Amino acid sequence: MSTSTENYKHDPIYALHRRSGPLTEELVQRPGEFGLGRLPSKLQPDATTTSVCGFCGTGCSLRLHLKDGEAINLSADKEYPVNIGMACPKGWEALAPLESTERATMPLLKQADGNFKEVSWEEALEVFVERMKSTLDTHGPESAAFLSTGQIPFEEMALLGSLAKFGMGMVHGDGNTRQCMATAVMAYKQSFGFDAPPYSYQDFEESDVIVLVGSNMCIAHPIMWQRVMRNKRNPEIIVIDPRRTETAMAATSHLPLRPKSDLDLFYGLARLVLDRGGVDRAFVEAHTNEFEEFKAFLADYNLARTHTATGLSTDDLTHLADLLCSGKRVSFWWTMGVNQSYEGVRVAQAMINLALMTGNIGKPGTGANSITGQCNAMGSRLFSNTTNLLGGHDFMNAEHRSKVAGKLGIPEERIPAQNSLAFDQILKGAEDGKIKALWFIATNTRHSWPNRERFEALREKLDFVVVQDMYRNTKTAEFADLILPAAGWGEKEGTFINSERRLGSIKKVRRAPGHALADFYIFKLIAHRWGCAELFAKWENPAAAFQILKDLSEGQPCDFTGIESPADLENGGVQWPCIEAPENLARERRLFEDGQFYHPDGRARFIFEAHRPPPEAPDRTYPFWLLTGRGSSSQWHTLTRSGESDVLRKLAPKELYVEVNTLDAEEFGIEAQAYIKVSSRRGSITARAVVVTTVRRGQIFIPMHDARVNLLTLDAVDPISREPNFKACAVRIEKLDTK
Ligand code: SF4
Repeated sequence: MSTSTENYKHDPIYALHRRSGPLTEELVQRPGEFGLGRLPSKLQPDATTTSVCGFCGTGCSLRLHLKDGEAINLSADKEYPVNIGMACPKGWEALAPLESTERATMPLLKQADGNFKEVSWEEALEVFVERMKSTLDTHGPESAAFLSTGQIPFEEMALLGSLAKFGMGMVHGDGNTRQCMATAVMAYKQSFGFDAPPYSYQDFEESDVIVLVGSNMCIAHPIMWQRVMRNKRNPEIIVIDPRRTETAMAATSHLPLRPKSDLDLFYGLARLVLDRGGVDRAFVEAHTNEFEEFKAFLADYNLARTHTATGLSTDDLTHLADLLCSGKRVSFWWTMGVNQSYEGVRVAQAMINLALMTGNIGKPGTGANSITGQCNAMGSRLFSNTTNLLGGHDFMNAEHRSKVAGKLGIPEERIPAQNSLAFDQILKGAEDGKIKALWFIATNTRHSWPNRERFEALREKLDFVVVQDMYRNTKTAEFADLILPAAGWGEKEGTFINSERRLGSIKKVRRAPGHALADFYIFKLIAHRWGCAELFAKWENPAAAFQILKDLSEGQPCDFTGIESPADLENGGVQWPCIEAPENLARERRLFEDGQFYHPDGRARFIFEAHRPPPEAPDRTYPFWLLTGRGSSSQWHTLTRSGESDVLRKLAPKELYVEVNTLDAEEFGIEAQAYIKVSSRRGSITARAVVVTTVRRGQIFIPMHDARVNLLTLDAVDPISREPNFKACAVRIEKLDTK
């Protein structure tokens, strides 16, 4: 069911809001912004506009070519400082998922027989408000929670977090960034005093030693890898990863460490650097704290211990230590291989320690640099009002609550004086019957959360589940009582923040199908129907929300008050901080060039803690390590969108496969392409064996994109970041008779 320019006035949502106050006028004047009818008139009908890609955190800019006001094709933006004319397959196919026949086009309400029935927005909102209100009224403010995403613009995230917490009175809400970036957030907060990835992508081109840890950059962040390839300094590229990934094959060295030995590796390297006199004493003394304590902690580490713990040769270890000492510009880059670990925060901080002790921070080609997963994970980290109060503020800090309340013009008591439960704790709350209602926004948790069987059992504990998504066929949508149809990337406007802190705009260049609405306006409708719309009167549209968030950023490390409006992002985006006009600033900037960090004394901290045994390691019953990761550059997470492109599907593996080492295959009588059974303590799956030498004996690798994989994975979390330990658990393999 589609809604054309001519008939939008007959649309039920239009009629609904004609009767319901101030929002009526917005709809009358700008129906296109609601995903209904017209496209924004400011775009010339046959022009080209630009938009930041809506998949990964690289944040490439795409040029969208319009015909009659709608994007019909795209190309990579040559002028943008991120991608310089390049895009990966997902970027090139960014428009295709919008045309899926699986789009949610009407609100869908589950009936007594388990089938969904299309309902009007009016009915959907009535059900949403009535059921959520009755849950909160009956069981208290901690009985309902929202689970959001790193995939929507920060204006939408901020409105959601504000509506849920300040308007609807919820206490708990988290986002799927907990599943990818929470480790980096906590590592930076504790070490630097703020969640501040310090680099710009220019640093890829200016390093002479590039250390990639738990990052298969060639396929997971292919445009960043292209930036590495542009480096003219003939850099040493060291890949630290248990698997010989595509990136490891392309590097100058690959260090195939034992799974979960990374913390011992980095402490061992720190000790070797110390012994070799590689410490930048002037930097350490002027800009850091707790180095002496760190030095004392390293007394127990040495080359032999590091070799035993990691399985790496002493030659490889000393070679890397020598490079860390002699390299003028050493940069450390990590992603999910570090973040998705039960002790990921300390591993990330062990790299930060190495960068600090060798003075490799705040200078070209240096840094301890976390690479972000989702397109707007950085926006979520700062502005989703989940783990921190809007703009990197603190719910527990009375001054911060007062500042935010003042700037938003809302009563201070509307702001909870407690932190939200984390994602895993919210799910545990549901398991324990304390949380009765969940609202999922643009995230497919039923596919992406580890130990899926446990998640499945939650359904019968929950009184009410809402899924707000572009698609009606996600695993989580099947689970819902109510599906709210959302516009996607390309069908709405807003701002993303990429890995290197760059704010960039997305544009509305397509009509959302049927009655799907931009998330921003779904939240506005809910506020209206809930009876708290006056709190959000200033949040008129995404552009107005941008101004609110800009104002809230004032005085914070992420201050972007120098950006007058989203129009300022047109010329290459702008990195935070930005407190003066962007045209006065370099297009690529790194942090800490002045050696000033964000702790009150301006110093960074050395933080360390001894390695703990993994929550589950191979044993006699489950003798293999299961490693998981991205399968190919054409696949995005749970395939909700990339699975809807014919081209991306053709580029991806046809079915679930498991990589098995040749010697293990021989021992278990497994032939290449045979089906095998993989079991963990939590479940079993069947997959085709791919016999390789790229995984080591005793390890197998399965790409993460098939929902079955999380039947195997372990839901232990890092106690500091509460990020799940997706990357390694114990499994066994069995040969099956079928081929
Ligand atoms: Fe989009 Fe990431 Fe690919 Fe760039 S690298 S085109 S941001 S998916």
